[in-house]
Amino acid sequence: TIARLSTADGAFHQHLNALLDWEGVSDKAVQARVEEILADVKLRGDSAVIEATNRFDRLSVGCMEQLRLSPEQLKKAFDSLPDEQRDALSAAAERIKRYHEHQKPTSWQYEEDDGTVLGQKVTPLDRAGIYVPGGKAAYPSSVLMNAIPAHVAGVREIVMVVPTPDGVLNDLVLAAAHLAGVDYVFTIGGAQAVAALAYGTESVPRVDKIVGPGNIYVATAKRAVFGQVGIDMIAGPSEIMVVSDGQTDPDWLAMDLFSQAEHDEDAQAILVSWDVAHLDAVEASIERLLPTLEREGIARVSLQRRGALILCQDQAEAIDLINRIAPEHLELSVETPNTWLDGIRHAGAIFMGRHTSEALGDYCAGPNHVLPTSGTARFSSPLGVYDFQKRSSIIHCSPEGASELGKIASVLARGESLTAHARSAEYRIND
Ligand code: NAD
Repeated sequence: TIARLSTADGAFHQHLNALLDWEGVSDKAVQARVEEILADVKLRGDSAVIEATNRFDRLSVGCMEQLRLSPEQLKKAFDSLPDEQRDALSAAAERIKRYHEHQKPTSWQYEEDDGTVLGQKVTPLDRAGIYVPGGKAAYPSSVLMNAIPAHVAGVREIVMVVPTPDGVLNDLVLAAAHLAGVDYVFTIGGAQAVAALAYGTESVPRVDKIVGPGNIYVATAKRAVFGQVGIDMIAGPSEIMVVSDGQTDPDWLAMDLFSQAEHDEDAQAILVSWDVAHLDAVEASIERLLPTLEREGIARVSLQRRGALILCQDQAEAIDLINRIAPEHLELSVETPNTWLDGIRHAGAIFMGRHTSEALGDYCAGPNHVLPTSGTARFSSPLGVYDFQKRSSIIHCSPEGASELGKIASVLARGESLTAHARSAEYRIND
């Protein structure tokens, strides 16, 4: 079911590259269709959104009012949940909120000797658009993970879109939107929803940034509208990398690998250890437990297509592998995970110790589950409060400061032959 690799094999790096290779958003047919949908929504607004929604989500609505949910409807969904679900959702929301409160960047300034003040002012976005996938499954946890940081950041208005194929509304998703402080929900999805958020229509307000995961149509549309609006990232399939010192129960590790593999056929699950008998035991657990999964089919294809059990030499080599792979989720299933941290440079979220399964982070630990995939943890970070804010620089010169800076600016501006710049600075030189 799952490939076995060894770092001692001469062709290991070739195998690893093939395993990690991911094409991303490059399907020409999808691109053409998405371009068409974007152009249509830009031109015809609501009518184009309604037509595309009727077509792709198999609905038959006549106006946008039928695709909009009010805050009262969201609250009603929350109130109608069974107690157990309402409590679990509320507990998760509370923990996610508390974690993200710690992320709030602050404005700052400092004063120089001549009275000039320099600083940075942090401002939340006016309006954020949150894409919540809804094609094949409903994701209340994604509502919390996308909307709560926006709310904590102080975004004035949060507009959520979620497709409802065949008109099926998910109460947990709506309840999560209520808890997370979402202002509007439109039951639209795909490229047409991204277009509506990016360009605005008669009914859907235009947003400043679109965040949230989605399928290839959503990802392709987000990439295409980037520049007119901000986007968080282009998410690839989910990944997990587990490093085990051989002391964790093999069944636990098999299930941790499945927890990503069951997401979709292209998800990636990799286990690394220097203990070959332990890898054998995990492989046996995988074979025994796979048939017990509800999503066995998806998990099996994912493990066959992109999974691997990798034998390495020691901790140092495992750390090299982590930094090479830059996994979205990294589980350090080892006795002293703290001794590993210094060496780890690239990972979206790091789950420390045998008791910290990635699933806890997906739902309720507190940190965000929207994470950089496909090696992009080399240069990007989890979704957070900072994604919903921007910074303005503050420069306030005293007369003395303007005079001193004017001398420097004048020289540099004349060096660039920009004489208006130079003279503008020189006017303020007072000696
Ligand atoms: P989705 O909401 O992303 O897409 C559904 C929409 O796709 C439909 O409303 C429709 O408009 C559009 N669509 C479908 N077929 C089309 C076609 N032939 N032409 C044009 N448009 C079409 O829902 P999904 O499909 O279930 O995908 C969700 C994705 O999000 C999955 O890949 C899942 O793994 C991912 N996801 C990621 C995270 C994360 O945190 N990284 C969380 C949840 C889900």
